[in-house]
Amino acid sequence: MSIKRHTTRPVKIRDLIIGGDSPISIQSMTNVPLENVSGTMAQIERLVEAGADLVRLAVINEDALPHLREVRKAVDAPLSADIHFNYKLALGAIESGIDKIRINPGNIGKLEHIREIVRRAKERSVPIRIGVNGGSLDKKKYPALTAEALAQSALDHVRILEDLGFEDIVVSIKTSDIQMTIEANKLFANERNYPLHIGLTEAGYGISCVVQSSVVIGHLLLSGLGDTIRVSMTGDPVEEVRIAKKILDALEIRPLPVRIIACPTCGRTDPEIDLEKIAREVESALIREFSDTLVKLRRQIVVAVMGCEVNGPGEASHADVGVAGARSGNYLLFAKGKKIKTLRRDEIVSSIMQEACTIISSWNYSR
Ligand code: SF4
Repeated sequence: MSIKRHTTRPVKIRDLIIGGDSPISIQSMTNVPLENVSGTMAQIERLVEAGADLVRLAVINEDALPHLREVRKAVDAPLSADIHFNYKLALGAIESGIDKIRINPGNIGKLEHIREIVRRAKERSVPIRIGVNGGSLDKKKYPALTAEALAQSALDHVRILEDLGFEDIVVSIKTSDIQMTIEANKLFANERNYPLHIGLTEAGYGISCVVQSSVVIGHLLLSGLGDTIRVSMTGDPVEEVRIAKKILDALEIRPLPVRIIACPTCGRTDPEIDLEKIAREVESALIREFSDTLVKLRRQIVVAVMGCEVNGPGEASHADVGVAGARSGNYLLFAKGKKIKTLRRDEIVSSIMQEACTIISSWNYSR
């Protein structure tokens, strides 16, 4: 399925482009205090290795600025500084070589301070992300938290920058309410074409966060909205990146090199086998052996691990290779739904790997 993306203005952040027709990027945020410079750098490295395209760091006071500078010098990844209210922090962050800042101009106060930030941001080509969420809404102007209020608040901030001739803007509108967040993003997109950073705030942890984030990000992306995504999850931010990658893979926006299809199992499944264990084993082995090659080839291999041969090959007929169980212990190896041969239980992983190797080699030759 092809998604018609809302046309947005491309914004450059170091070597990353957000918006336009650039790939939808993944971002996350460190949760190590910035004064722990080596810990921050190690976390950025883990995030980038997991697939983050941009990493944000909270800059909470002026003491943090030398640490920000140190981190910026030491790592290659595009970095964004998260700043609240304090214009001096914004100026200091730009001075430290940061690639993007997140600050709401309407919360800074004096116009001359905003003007100064804009001047320096322009000089250094540093984009500004406006981040509106339920908590940051001006309660006097918008006493009720609604999608309209959120979109209008984002527009208020945007206009301040536009009036100063600044358009290198990314906008996020987030709440912990799925429907309100979706609606607010749609309302804003009707008014402006700045790239949208999408996600939920306070999405929680574990499966609840995965479900809620997938719903809101998935819905917006399928509607053509969203240029960069963040899954906000309590805990290790590397998990955020893994989930974000899975969301983009599920939507076939940025397919991962390996996709495993596995059935839920039922009474037809061979009771002698742990299908989940086999599927996980196959996935790890494929990623370990073929991930780099598949990334180079820009291909995804789809591998099915199914519980029975009655429905397995049919349900997974689009898989490049798959295995279907049988209570007799004679497993079926198939490709694109067609039988290749029968296997014993202990041959499943090695046979899939062998077949995958043949398939991937043929892709390599036909390049
Ligand atoms: S593929 Fe077979 S074992 Fe798996 S859920 Fe379907 S019918 Fe059951």
